Amino acid sequence: MKSAPGGNQLTETPFRPLPLGQIRPSGWLLRQLQLQADGLVGHLDECWPDVAQSGWIGGTAESWERGPYWLDGIIPLAFLLDDTRLKVKVDFWVDAILTTQREDGWLGPGHDPTYGYTDDPWPVAIVLKALTQYQEATHDPRVLPALLRFFQCLQQQLAQRPLQSWARMRCTELLLSLYWVYEYTQASWLLALATTIQAQGYNWVEHFAHFTWTDRQSTWTHEAHVVNTAMAIKYPGLWYRLSQDIRHREAIASLIETLDHFHGQVTGMFSGDEVLAGKNPSQGTELCAVVEYLFSLEVLLSAVGTLDLAERWERIAFNALPATFSPDMWAHQYDQQVNQVQCVVADDPIYTTNGADANIFGLAPNFGCCTANMGQGWPKFTAHLWMRTPEEGLAAWSYAPCQITTTLSGQQVRLTVETEYPFSETIRLTVSAEQPVSFPLHLRIPSWAQGATVQTAEGQHTVQAGNWYRMERTWVGNETVMLTLPMVIQTQTRYHNSASIERGPLVYALRLGEAWKQIGGVLPHADWEVRPTTPWKYALACERTHPERSCQLIAHGMTAVPFSPQGAPLSLRVQGKQLPNWTLEHQAAGSLPFSPVSSEEPFQPLELIPYGCTNVRLAEFPVLEDEATKRNGLDEQISRYQT
Ligand SMILES: [Zn+2]
Repeated sequence: MKSAPGGNQLTETPFRPLPLGQIRPSGWLLRQLQLQADGLVGHLDECWPDVAQSGWIGGTAESWERGPYWLDGIIPLAFLLDDTRLKVKVDFWVDAILTTQREDGWLGPGHDPTYGYTDDPWPVAIVLKALTQYQEATHDPRVLPALLRFFQCLQQQLAQRPLQSWARMRCTELLLSLYWVYEYTQASWLLALATTIQAQGYNWVEHFAHFTWTDRQSTWTHEAHVVNTAMAIKYPGLWYRLSQDIRHREAIASLIETLDHFHGQVTGMFSGDEVLAGKNPSQGTELCAVVEYLFSLEVLLSAVGTLDLAERWERIAFNALPATFSPDMWAHQYDQQVNQVQCVVADDPIYTTNGADANIFGLAPNFGCCTANMGQGWPKFTAHLWMRTPEEGLAAWSYAPCQITTTLSGQQVRLTVETEYPFSETIRLTVSAEQPVSFPLHLRIPSWAQGATVQTAEGQHTVQAGNWYRMERTWVGNETVMLTLPMVIQTQTRYHNSASIERGPLVYALRLGEAWKQIGGVLPHADWEVRPTTPWKYALACERTHPERSCQLIAHGMTAVPFSPQGAPLSLRVQGKQLPNWTLEHQAAGSLPFSPVSSEEPFQPLELIPYGCTNVRLAEFPVLEDEATKRNGLDEQISRYQT
């Protein structure tokens, strides 16, 4: 930190994202982004009026957040894939927005006929995020002046009309781009504007310091709104950059712990359908919250960069994100459930405030926000896999396959990451530099990777789990580093003393046979119900402290679509018994039987596959009596989870 306290400057961030385009996906990640480009996200502006005829491009349809949301995802997708078809779409949208900037500096149509908002800063905040990515990829000279003019306009507006409604709750979204402009211009009035935004915005640090939303919420409020909350996770980290108040930095961990404690799900998410909904794994989480939690973590990885944030980021990205799309990415859910045994239009839904169709797969189930917003998930994950460190080094946050081309200490460097991670334990890193160049490579070693090893030409050695491993050297030619992250099968004790099973960053779920039935829409973006064709009401025979004794790992090899039931590269074989009395309630898996449970039914072999590969599933399991009682301290666990 090089600035004095008091908000006169911003703290330096410990990690800086690489400009959009310097990281390119490869392997399975490239195929996943291509699926997205070939699916709904890459075609939404052709088939969905709220984007195709958005007021942001001169149309008369929804003119508020939906066009901006889509733009915020299609821009990184276009440049990560270097896809001409997508870049033509992006250029059209950016031109339309920049060439219609109002005389007073406001960006966008100003008035939205659908909801009646006028000069609402909230949707503009999304466009600003999109435009900053566009500028980094293209160096378009129009972007920075346009953003400066908008912030001048906003400064005048806030003096007359303070932030309200969505813009008040989501005030941090304005700060992201404001800081970006400040770092280019060092214009001090921008930090004064940031202070105004803080004063007028909702105070999420106070919200979590006095958190009263501890149960399943029964009424819709802004304060308990799941997407507002997911966006707010970055609030303390962004304020810390301005306030330099250590309490803001420390608030990040307590905020996340609070959400886990009262509303946590095994995927690393918290529930919300669409207000906070407790820990019941049948309840559901909105897709917008999934992609916004991921983005909040990406911002925090840069702003504070703690290792626990990266582990959660991977957990959400590899589990909750892929699970909520159909494998071809033409259909998505509004709410995904952890114990999701069917996806049907429910006449008596379990959801708090969401509608009957909230967990079917479709074009726009329940409400269209996720349709527009979901596109940011995979591209932004890709763009943040590695970041730059202040001493001209590179740091790995996750090891999905990619290639980085960047300049370090004045020399062009290429880093190739070859791996099937998270479906594999091994990662081959190749650093290529034509001229000798010295820089550190920082490798994040996850806490679960006990016995991790790094192998170079000089030999192999074990590195510490839950820490950074720093490789400082002069790189020249092509140098290879082999990283091995051992993945052991582990359990978590969850809702009603249930057990979940995980291995490395992947959560495992019961594979169910599934029947898809088109119930509306037109192909390829139709609406679907999904029903199980095999039983779901199982309890596991699993020794919690030594699950490897009762689970057998089977590797099937990488597939063209790994996040699909048929393409799952890994599975676990385990024994279980049916629980005949466990029934559907509110057309969802009924109250989770409290473990340990007993059953007179015969043992059956069950197949678990990665959560992200499933469309219907069970992932928080009752545990059979004999096995469950082998766990030390079970009584303590029972009392802890009895609520
Ligand atoms: Zn949504």
